[in-house]
Order: sequence, then C-alpha cells, then structure tokens
Amino acid sequence: MSQTKNKAKETPGQEKMEKIISLAKRRGFIFQSSEIYGGLNSCYDYGPMGVLLKNNVKAAWWKSVLQERDDMAGMDSSILMHPQVWVASGHVASFSDPMVDCKVCKKRFRQDDLVEQVCPECGGELTEARQFNMMFKTFMGPVEDAANVIYMRPETAQGIFVNFKNVLTVTRKKLPFGIAQIGKAFRNEITPGKFTFRTREFEQMEIEYFVRKEDAEKCHQEWLEIRMNWYKSLGITPENLRLRQHRQDELAHYAAACYDIEYNFPWGWSELEGIANRRDYDLTCHEKESGKDLKYFDEDLKESFLPYVIEPSAGVDRSTLAFLIDAYSEDEAPSVKGGVETRTVLRFSNALAPIKVAILPLSRKDRLIEVAERIYKDLRRSFFCDFDDRGSIGKRYRRQDEVGTPFCVTVDFDTIGEEDKEGDNSVTIRFRDTLVQERVPIEGLKVRLGELLN
Ligand code: ATP
Repeated sequence: MSQTKNKAKETPGQEKMEKIISLAKRRGFIFQSSEIYGGLNSCYDYGPMGVLLKNNVKAAWWKSVLQERDDMAGMDSSILMHPQVWVASGHVASFSDPMVDCKVCKKRFRQDDLVEQVCPECGGELTEARQFNMMFKTFMGPVEDAANVIYMRPETAQGIFVNFKNVLTVTRKKLPFGIAQIGKAFRNEITPGKFTFRTREFEQMEIEYFVRKEDAEKCHQEWLEIRMNWYKSLGITPENLRLRQHRQDELAHYAAACYDIEYNFPWGWSELEGIANRRDYDLTCHEKESGKDLKYFDEDLKESFLPYVIEPSAGVDRSTLAFLIDAYSEDEAPSVKGGVETRTVLRFSNALAPIKVAILPLSRKDRLIEVAERIYKDLRRSFFCDFDDRGSIGKRYRRQDEVGTPFCVTVDFDTIGEEDKEGDNSVTIRFRDTLVQERVPIEGLKVRLGELLN
C-alpha cells in the first residue's frame, strides 16, 4: 500500500482525524508511547478504554474464525523464532523497501511514497534508492555477534507454517482446514504514520487456510466474502469498505492472486486486510530449508502433497482504528439545560463497545447510591459495566456517549421513593443512539439488557 507523504493542505478528513486523536487521548483509548519523555515515534499505548476495544476486536475475530467454525484450529507461536525461518521464508533476502535520504535535511523516505523525486519536507535533492530490510534485529544471549543474531517476527504467519505438521498431527484435521493466530509483529517501517495505521510494533490476526490446489481459487473468493462481512457485521458502514485486487505488477512473487480489503480512512482508501493465495510457497520453502517432510497425506486421493494456502491477514490496530473512525459521529441532542447541543458519540456495535452498561445514580444521596451499587455489582457479573456518580447527569451521559456505551441505567427518586411516596423499584434504560428512555423493573433489568445487547 502506498501513501503520499508530500505535505497536503488541511482537509475535512484531517480535521476529523485530529478530533478522533484528541478524543482517543481524552477518553483513554490511545496515548503516545513514553509521552513523558517526549514520546516514541510511531509507538502507541492503549489506555483503559482502548484495551477493552482492542480486546473486543480480537475476541470478535476469534469467535467468528474459530468458535463458529469447525474447520479451524488456533495457536500462539513465539515472537522470536529460529533465524533460518526468515531465510527460508525469503524475509532475510527480500523483506525490504526502497528508501531514499534527503541530502539537505537528512530525513528518510520510502521511495514509492513520493510523488516527486525531491524531498517532500524541504525540497532538497534525494540520494539514489537503497534497499532497506525492515526486520528488527537483536541478539540472543549475552554475546553480541553475528552467530547470535535473531529477528523480531515481521508477521505471525511463519509461526503457523512451521507448526503445520504439529497442528495437523494433534487435530487430525482434513483439508480444507485453517490455523488462526493473533500476535505482535514488528517492522522497521521507513515512514510510519497516520496515528496507529502504520506503526513499527503492531498486532496481526492471521489465518493460513490449507486447501487442495484445485480448490484454492474458489476458497479464496469465499474468504473475501467472509472477511468483508465480518467488518460489516461489526458496524462498519458498507460504503466505507471495498475490495481491491492487486495488479500483476504489485503481486508478491509467491502469490497467485491477492486482494486488499480497504477502508475509506479520512485520508483516503487504505488497506485494512490482505487476502492472498500464497500457493504452496511457504511450505515448499520450509520443507527444503529444514529437510523435514511437511506433506499432507490425502486419504481420499491416496496421495501426499503440500497444500495451497489462502491467507486472510488483518491488522488488529488498523481495524481497531477503522472501527473507532467509523463509529465517530457528532449530532444534535437536547441539552439538559434546555435547547440543543452538539454531542460527540461513538456508535460502536454492542460487541465492540468497551463498556456495555453504565449505572448512574441521579444524585449522590445515600439511598440512591446504595441501590445503584447493588445493581452495578449484580450486572457486572454478566456485562462490562461502569459506575459513575460524579458530576451532573448530563455530563455523565456525554462521557458515556464519548466512549460509546450503548446503554445507561439511571437510578432516580422514583426508583427508591420519597417520604410520602413508595418507590417503583424500576430504573430507566437510556439508549445511546436514539436517546429513547425505557422504564424497566429492577428484577427484569438483566434479562432486558441481555436481550438488547445480543
Ligand atoms: P502496508 O503496505 O499498508 O504497510 P502490507 O501490505 O505490508 O501493509 P501485510 O504484510 O499484508 O501488510 O500485513 C497484513 C496486515 O497487517 C495489513 O493489512 C495491516 O492491517 C497490518 N499491518 C501491516 N503492517 C503494519 C504496520 N506497519 N502497522 C500496522 N498494521 C500493519
């Protein structure tokens, strides 16, 4: 995927991004890494809301590709792998981008990001392009010499390929079947940027789906549909998603075909997930390099062969960012002070919302707090809940809207009653998107919320 780094004018898209970045910080979704030391370029930390959102994204993926299918197995391989893995996979020789340096300001750029062959920052002359390997290198053990060089994995996929036989043996799966894993990957990107879109440390959700060669093309098409639907089912606006087939000249040498699922980010269409037909390239390389037989024995065909692979490879951080951007909206809502006001609301799907239910006692009166706390302690065994009794009710609603909480439960004086009036033991559920309010008896609250959330 290429992006233009040449300086652009302020656009509404950029304004929207600035608002989202500011909200992400203010509400605890995403912070700059090591901020108190001036920050570390392209590294980010997920705060209290961000970690919940990101975990929900991963859980939704895991549920759809593993729990709801019977042809998949999961795994979790280590980040550090035998250096030969990266020789076999071709990463040592060719996991590189052409890079150029500015002779004047010394900044470094990815050549294919540039529109003109001058420095986009200062207009200075650029050096000839050089290949730059993007794998992070470190040393295993106390001796820092060439024999101990080890790499931080640049993708999770190879952890699956080298375990193909192990998983096959223990699961006794038959083709077609897949292996899924989620984990960190590291790439020393020349030009990271656009918030968490392109960073040097990120997380991937990858599937290697093994098929007979003759079924690969059809299976590839099926995965395109499955994965497009996944984003839609979690609330991404369908018009903001598209499939783009790789041109012959951008196709990786090992791939028979590749598609990107792209999202219409505020700066334009960019890759969310790549879905490639990798043929039998990786297993062939590892069989050759390791000298181990990695073939699959097909009992129906009575034949051994290396299966073809369809690889849907998604980024956790990129999809989390897309979900955040797509959920972001501003609307006019009645103000508690009268009139209307602009409210910012994250319209997350229920599955992704960090907090599902917020319990808000109308005031800090002891009896209200007592009842509200009892409800909170009961509900949180079933749903991720928040309890908030600080500030005016209007401000508390806005806080919950800004983190995308689909339902607020308000405990008020009608609930507990007053001196001359008995309480109705009911509470109000407020709907984030429609602002509709529904009165529900406390004893039926959990069931009702369960219905609403599912
Ligand atoms: P790009 O060209 O956009 O850097 P890529 O084509 O190199 O991406 P793949 O190797 O196909 O990416 O990786 C699969 C997925 O992993 C991507 O679709 C993306 O969601 C995620 N990903 C890759 N590189 C990064 C990165 N530097 N930061 C965040 N996510 C990434």
